[in-house]
Amino acid sequence: MLIFKLMSCQQVAKVASDYLDNQTDGKLNLKIRLHLMMCANCRRFVKHLGLTKTLAPQVVRTHHAPVDAEAVLKRIKERPQ
Ligand SMILES: [Zn+2]
Repeated sequence: MLIFKLMSCQQVAKVASDYLDNQTDGKLNLKIRLHLMMCANCRRFVKHLGLTKTLAPQVVRTHHAPVDAEAVLKRIKERPQ
């Protein structure tokens, strides 16, 4: 019997921003980490979201799908300084 019900990718994407900001509690952190261990897609998403947050914190306020996060990152990189 599973103690923790595994999170779906959608649930992880929804809390990923809070997770990176350390706004999630320990139990949720554990569930997210467990999911990230098994899901390469979410690992990539969280990594890109982290990069996006570092480069442009204001962009993260809107809810982007994983594909959008990459597009945003690309746009930031291509934008002349
Ligand atoms: Zn996932």
